Amino acid sequence: MLPPVVSRFVAGEGPAAALEHVRRTNDRGLKVLLNYLGEHHTERPTAAEDAESYERLLADLDGTALDARVSVKPTQLGLAIRESVFRFNLDRVVSAAVAHDNVVWIDMEDRTTTDATLDAFEHHARETGGQVGVCLQANLRRTATDLDRLADVPGKIRLVKGAYEEPEDVAYTRRSAVDEAYRENLEFLFQEYDGDVAVGTHDPAMLEYADDLAETYGRSYEVQMLMGVRDRAQERLAASGHDVWQYAPFGARWPSYFYRRVRERRRNLSFALRAIAGV
Ligand code: FAD
Repeated sequence: MLPPVVSRFVAGEGPAAALEHVRRTNDRGLKVLLNYLGEHHTERPTAAEDAESYERLLADLDGTALDARVSVKPTQLGLAIRESVFRFNLDRVVSAAVAHDNVVWIDMEDRTTTDATLDAFEHHARETGGQVGVCLQANLRRTATDLDRLADVPGKIRLVKGAYEEPEDVAYTRRSAVDEAYRENLEFLFQEYDGDVAVGTHDPAMLEYADDLAETYGRSYEVQMLMGVRDRAQERLAASGHDVWQYAPFGARWPSYFYRRVRERRRNLSFALRAIAGV
């Protein structure tokens, strides 16, 4: 069982707990993106096992009334081993999604993985007619050019600010510059992207901007937020008619994910310390 403090951010250690989390979250009006925790695999069998776990998860979701998709990490499927290993394993997961009428999101990791991730997305998105989504990071200077390249690719694009520390020559590092890039990238997506747009942020200013763009360009969009972050806002947005997806990680490899969430915000750290101290 997960420590209670961890279960704010992680949906459980195994698929049964994750599916139960999906059921409870769907009941609150939110849909779920399930991420089976794992990254930076250096052994082929581990990457293959994770691909198999996603295949089983997609099969388990099929035939239920649960509203959930999956979100995978490239290095979980073998990108750090070799690009061909990642492509082989991703192909398995995408084939399972197609067979079970689901969608695979591909998370974006650090800048060394961007080209391989976008190439894989483009291939599978075109091949499946859009049953694949990818995440793009507004902090990377290259993202405007990448969006231009992807404008006519079917599928889905999630825009986030970017979670990885990158050097100044490839990334905006000042918060205001990242926010400005986020707005520009988002407007491009609303204006030019043929597929579905997902706004991956907890930032009220960006969410308000997305609403303005939706009105200006007359199109709909998804909101995506992390489990445990602004939970009440997630419910409020869903109740006001937004299409809200909660990114919910699960699996035994939760410690590194949990400590990342705790480190990134002082308030999460005090929440964790209070919970551990039992106050
Ligand atoms: P910020 O400006 O960081 O935060 C805005 C406000 O949101 C804060 O003031 C606070 O009120 C609240 N908030 C934000 N984070 C937290 C937190 N952890 N705890 C409590 N409150 C918080 N990054 C990648 O690089 N690759 C990915 O594939 C990726 N996938 C993502 C998928 C989803 C669904 C989401 C929501 C984020 C993803 N990210 C990914 C992370 C993203 O890049 C940002 O690091 C993260 O979302 C924080 O940025 P923000 O847009 O929420 O805005």
